Amino acid sequence: MYCTECGKALNEAGICDACEKNKTKKIIVTREKKVMGFAISFPVFIDGEKLDNLGNGKSLEKVVSPGKHVVEFRCVEKTITQEVTLDKNDTVEITCKASMGLIAAIASITDIEYK
Ligand SMILES: [Zn+2]
Repeated sequence: MYCTECGKALNEAGICDACEKNKTKKIIVTREKKVMGFAISFPVFIDGEKLDNLGNGKSLEKVVSPGKHVVEFRCVEKTITQEVTLDKNDTVEITCKASMGLIAAIASITDIEYK
């Protein structure tokens, strides 16, 4: 089998490696909206690089290369690390929820969805 777009041979999974590399891979991080209580934002890092602060009910996204990526939620009291792999999937969506500690937000990951 050959790729209908570029004419190169497809791999065993029927995917064209050349075209797959050019596709946009994206990591989307969403924080569930909390109505009650105060909402402290906390920074999200992807591969050690700060993306932005994630506020209550907000989303952040980053275009990434295919392969493994490390997503970190750096709360004051606890850092949550999640490894994701993007190969066939164009987008991975990580949903987290924050509960408030005495001095800071503590995040927990509620859902990871590959699309
Ligand atoms: Zn192709």
